Amino acid sequence: MVSKIVKRKRTKSFKKFIHLTIKPPIGKKSFIIKKSLDNDRRTLPPLPSPNMKTVFLDLDDTLTHTTVSMLNQPPPEKFDFSFTTPDDDHRFVYYVRKRPFVDEFLNFLSERFEIVVFTAGIQSYASAILDRLDPTMNLISHRLYRDSCTIINGKCVKDLSKTGRYMSRVVIVDDSPDSYLFQPGNAMPIQKFTNDDEDEELSFLMPFFHVLASAQDARVALKEYRTEVYGDDMDNM
Ligand SMILES: [Mg+2]
Repeated sequence: MVSKIVKRKRTKSFKKFIHLTIKPPIGKKSFIIKKSLDNDRRTLPPLPSPNMKTVFLDLDDTLTHTTVSMLNQPPPEKFDFSFTTPDDDHRFVYYVRKRPFVDEFLNFLSERFEIVVFTAGIQSYASAILDRLDPTMNLISHRLYRDSCTIINGKCVKDLSKTGRYMSRVVIVDDSPDSYLFQPGNAMPIQKFTNDDEDEELSFLMPFFHVLASAQDARVALKEYRTEVYGDDMDNM
């Protein structure tokens, strides 16, 4: 767990980056991949620009938090939207809370990076959430679901080497260390979000992504960040 003290340190540590020049926005993307990585090519479509970096974002407890209830049960006290899915014959209601700053975070990233949401959730569930987070499909370039994960000892691992992107130009933001078991050097860990109205994690990350936009190697930038904020001790997060 990242304490309030560490949070304050993180904010202070990255104040210097806020003054850096921001690169001009790249073009908007609208191509949404519906196939998993387990298809013939096993990769995402080519980048629109060869030097663009890619940010892989987890969904559950990173961008949103979902509570599920039976149809006839009362809803939770706070939620932003709800839906049912045909996969469970609409017997359950999924109540979704958006993490604070998620809209700002997605807009900010989409102007500088290719965004790929890589979730362990199944498509019918996750796409219902993503359609609400990105209703015009201009923010998230591609969506990868559970069928693109690799199962290792019961753990759902997101193997970035299958995506067709150079590892020097990718970052994965995920609350579960299992997700980046294969590429820990590309990971930006984030605290799990459940229902904290005061959560500022996504806001705290934006200065790092200012830096990343012009960094040569994403892994070097991540290591510098982790060393400064966490002492690079992944077990302490
Ligand atoms: Mg998660």
